[in-house]
Amino acid sequence: KPVRKPLIAGNWKMNLSHLEAIALVQKIAFSLKPQHYDAVDVTVLPAFTSIRSVQSLIDGDKLRLSYGAQDLSPHASGAYTGDVSGPMLAKLGCSFVTVGHSERRQYHEESDELVNRKLRAALTCGMTPILCVGEGIDVREAGDHVEHCSTQLSEGLSGLSEEQVDQVVLAYEPIWAIGTGKVATPADAQEVCRALRSALSERHGADLANRTRILYGGSVKANNAGDLLAQPDLDGALVGGASLDATEFAGICVAAA
Ligand code: PEP
Repeated sequence: KPVRKPLIAGNWKMNLSHLEAIALVQKIAFSLKPQHYDAVDVTVLPAFTSIRSVQSLIDGDKLRLSYGAQDLSPHASGAYTGDVSGPMLAKLGCSFVTVGHSERRQYHEESDELVNRKLRAALTCGMTPILCVGEGIDVREAGDHVEHCSTQLSEGLSGLSEEQVDQVVLAYEPIWAIGTGKVATPADAQEVCRALRSALSERHGADLANRTRILYGGSVKANNAGDLLAQPDLDGALVGGASLDATEFAGICVAAA
């Protein structure tokens, strides 16, 4: 396995007040030791309303965690009531932002074209987009999962320069595994992650493909993370439910270390 530092990202979704957010970050930080941070990048993705508090805590206590956002506007500023822009998030010190999460695609009707614009917006202000792709159960049962995810990948990265693609983190998140407790088998996750890497390799060369981090997401827990992350093309996890529990989340980080 080429040296790609694993990344464990906690997607808190629409959970936790800013006070609860601080308490969770403190517990996670307390559970991890220097050797874990040396071996794994750990990031949390709070709701917008908690980012400022998380920033103050992490900066003030010099914690070795980073943080990011779950969404951003494709626009930099202007008359877009209720939206939050990339420059606002970058100014708050956000390192990462997820784009193309299945919940955004489903509940906000986000198209591949919009996902692509959001991804570009993130790159423009220096944040690392985590581009999420993944198939629903019907596509998986029809055996079209690899093709489906490869299409989402190429649409998401459409028109990007090589330098830009080099900044992107990918996440394979089968929709049937998200929040269901039905984790993909390590072999199923590996199949798609490997296909994503070879698609990158074909388009942008083996060096770029070998540097790119590809995460798996979907019911990852401390007790299944080790087997998943042992797969050659899995470089970390995007964690939903289990990221709200400090012990579980830290357990996943330790399994990745
Ligand atoms: C997610 O929504 O990114 C996710 C992986 O959720 P869960 O871990 O709860 O399946």
